[in-house]
This record gives sequence, structure tokens and C-alpha cells, in this order.
Amino acid sequence: MRVAYIGLGAMGRPMAANLAASFPTTVFNRTERVALEHVASHGGRAVEQLADLADAEVVCTCLPTDVEVAAVAGVLGPVLAPGCVWLDHTSGAPQGSREVAAALAAHGVDYLDAPVSGGTDGAARGALTVMVGGDAAALDRVRPVLGAVAERVVHVGGVGAGMAVKAVNNVLLATSLRAAAEGLTALVQAGVPAATALEVINASSGRSFATERLLPERALDRSFPFTFALQLLAKDATLAEAVTADAGVGAPLLAAVAGLTREAAAELGPGADHVELVRVVERAAGVQLGAQRAGG
Ligand code: NDP
Repeated sequence: MRVAYIGLGAMGRPMAANLAASFPTTVFNRTERVALEHVASHGGRAVEQLADLADAEVVCTCLPTDVEVAAVAGVLGPVLAPGCVWLDHTSGAPQGSREVAAALAAHGVDYLDAPVSGGTDGAARGALTVMVGGDAAALDRVRPVLGAVAERVVHVGGVGAGMAVKAVNNVLLATSLRAAAEGLTALVQAGVPAATALEVINASSGRSFATERLLPERALDRSFPFTFALQLLAKDATLAEAVTADAGVGAPLLAAVAGLTREAAAELGPGADHVELVRVVERAAGVQLGAQRAGG
């Protein structure tokens, strides 16, 4: 299958690299240098114009939001051959994905929302989880492509359902990260080192991905690697608010977390990784969870 990959960002770069190992892969990136670097390392072809991806049988997108996907689909959709499948790995709004799906369907292109989890690490290992919304037969046609990037593919419902699951997953991530940071700053103030508290919590019922992995590996050592922008997490939490509102379900805790995550993203700016949310909690509490790194 001829694969086109659009959006070689933190997630798209490793995903496209894994695809290029198994399929003839053509890439497009808004900043062309990144596409040329991909070709130099992994082969295949880079194009300057979206319309030059017209012969693709599978189109993958991994862009910030559904808004950018809609813009790309508006240019590329009309030149794609009917029967092409569009796999959208972006975490976007369910409603936006339904609109893109309808626009592409007019050109005979099957759209599947296929957001991913597993982070840049999972993307590099080809071990992502993909939550897919859309037509089951179209999904079956692209399972081999998904197999190159994912360990687990779950068909969760019609178009938009994948986006909804992803939004809820990520507001849960924001919730556990924020809650753990608040609890740990209190414990540090009370004289319990954060690492000691985590030793207990991670053997107890309060543990989460935040306490087991993110806080010890990225915050306590002050490394805060940039893998997933805090702004993107705030975007996802906002999408989750919309999902709960559209469902007519009251979700006051998730709404509060969404508001706090947006505030943290505004305070720290576009260069902040999602785990740096911890810094906002630390500042408010006047304590730091881990030791300052030498030179850091
Ligand atoms: P990045 O910001 O690293 O990459 C964004 C990509 O989109 C870049 O290739 C960028 O191109 C391109 N882009 C941005 N704006 C436009 C535009 N207007 N037109 C065309 N291309 C554009 O984001 P991530 O890779 O981190 O995230 C991508 C998606 O995946 C998001 O929806 C995110 O929420 C989701 N996600 C991210 C995870 C992570 O751990 N990072 C994990 C799971 C999901 P350029 O190089 O020119 O800037």
C-alpha cells in the first residue's frame, strides 16, 4: 500500500519512520526541512505540495487539531482516488472529525478518526494504542498499516468516537497529574520527601501513570523532557469538556481540571511540556518536589 504521512511532529516523525520500514511512504510537512530529514534517514519521498500526494492509498495525518486536518483535507481530498482511506491520528474534536469525514466521503475517501496514545516513546517503539472511529470495513483495509505503528487497535464506534475516547483519556491524565502534584507538594511541606511518598503511593491504591512514570522520571529529577506540549493537553481537556457537555453529562471535576490546565498552559507558554504542569503547583505551594539538577 502506498502511504502518505502528513505532519512530522513529535508523534508523526517516529510513526512515519516505522511506516517507511514497511511501506512506500511519501511525507509532507509544513516545514519542509523536517520532511527532507525524514527521507534522508528513512528513504521514500518528500513532497512540497499536498496535491502531490494524490496517488496515496492510505493518508495519515497527525496535526495539532481537527482545524488543521480540515484545511489539509480541503486541498488533498478532491485529488485522491476513491477507495483511499484517511487515517487521522490527530487528537481533535469529534464534531470536527465528522465534518472532515463528510467532506472526504464526497470524494469517495473513507475517513477514520484514529487518535493514538503511548507518547513519543510508544511511537518510537511502534507500540501505540489506536482508538478508531468509523467504518469497520475501511478499518480492516488499513489494519496492516496500523500494525506498523501500534500494538493495540480498538474499534470504539462511529466517526468521532475515537476522538471522544482520546479526549476523555487525556483529561484523566491531566487530572491524575495535577492531583498527584497537589498531594505531593503538601507532603513535602509536611516533611515527607516526594520520592519517599511515591514509594508508598506506587505500592498502594493512589497510584497512576503520573505517579509511577511521569513524576519520578521527569519531575523529581527536574529533567522535564519536551515530548507533549502542555498546550496540547489543555486542548484535549477542553475537548473532553465538550464531549461531556454534548452528552448532557455533568462533569464538574473534569471541567475544573480543564480550567486549571488551560490556566497552567497560559502561565507557562507554548514551550512547556505537559509534565511542567507540576511547576505551577509547586510555585503556588512554595516547594519543589525534587532536587535541582546540577547546572539546571
Ligand atoms: P507537534 O507540535 O510536535 O507537531 C505538529 C505537526 O503538525 C508538525 O508536523 C507541524 O508542522 C504540523 N502543523 C502544525 N500546524 C500546521 C498547519 N497549520 N498546517 C500544516 N501542518 C501543521 O505535535 P505532536 O506531534 O505532539 O501532536 C500531534 C497530535 O498528536 C496532536 O493532536 C496531539 O494532541 C496528539 N498526540 C500527541 C502525543 C505526544 O506525546 N506528543 C501523544 C498522543 C497524541 P511544523 O513542523 O511545520 O511545525
